[in-house]
Amino acid sequence: MDINKPRYTPMSRRRRIYEGKAKVLYEGPEPGTLIQHFKDDATDFNAKKHDVIEGKGVLNNRISECLFQRLNDIGVPTHFIRRLNMREQLIREVEMIPLEVVVRNVAAGSLSKRLGIEEGTQLPRSIIEFNYKNEQLGNPMVSEEHITAFGWATPQEIDDVMALAIRVNDFLCGLFLGVGIRLVDFKMECGRLWENDLMRIVVADEISPDSCRLWDIKSNDKLDKDRFRRDMGGLVEAYTDVARRLGILGENERPQGAGPVLVKG
Ligand code: UDP
Repeated sequence: MDINKPRYTPMSRRRRIYEGKAKVLYEGPEPGTLIQHFKDDATDFNAKKHDVIEGKGVLNNRISECLFQRLNDIGVPTHFIRRLNMREQLIREVEMIPLEVVVRNVAAGSLSKRLGIEEGTQLPRSIIEFNYKNEQLGNPMVSEEHITAFGWATPQEIDDVMALAIRVNDFLCGLFLGVGIRLVDFKMECGRLWENDLMRIVVADEISPDSCRLWDIKSNDKLDKDRFRRDMGGLVEAYTDVARRLGILGENERPQGAGPVLVKG
């Protein structure tokens, strides 16, 4: 092996497969792999509001790595292989199911608006919702009837997705509770992973404060993207707090690319 040969193709020469609002996917080093790159861009739901928040991508890469690695460790299948650098991770290429799977434990956001339930109300049980991934339509909520009628997933696949969502929710609720955070709700996405002729559904995309509602258990402070959506400020500080509590960043470490983090007295 030529030791002077870079292990990965330099970014400029890599083939870009897909660019979303907060991430870019590049061709991976081996067939069946991709590189997922986390950007600093933040948009609200209909991409009406856009901002670049320095350090957000680095934090989401680390937090998503931590959560996906732990899911892999307990046998929940995910697309995650390993983190490559501050902004990138190596993942398995999957065929994405065009759904956002939202799991809710506490009323907030669109559920509160739609059903008139006060934010912060504990739900009688965890609720799973599906949104059809279509930006132009504003990712509308759909039922299992729509999903099967339009062929986005089969009834068996919906069962598998729901079973995964419940496992992920139970695990993450416990993990976050252990560090003083309430998992109010989160969004996950799934993909079909093909291994020879066998296919299984795995958790894909990212799980980070961009896609979860995380409230401090005592103060109810928001430690998630609602800080951006609701113009509250302090997003990088909140994400850094989540990373620290998960044991990702040391006490005095700050994410590269982010501005100084105030040391609390
Ligand atoms: N969510 C997401 N991407 C979306 C829509 C929702 O990550 O396109 C997440 C959001 O961060 C929250 C959960 O899914 O944790 C439920 O969001 P909700 O439907 O309440 O949307 P909102 O009221 O915030 O518009």
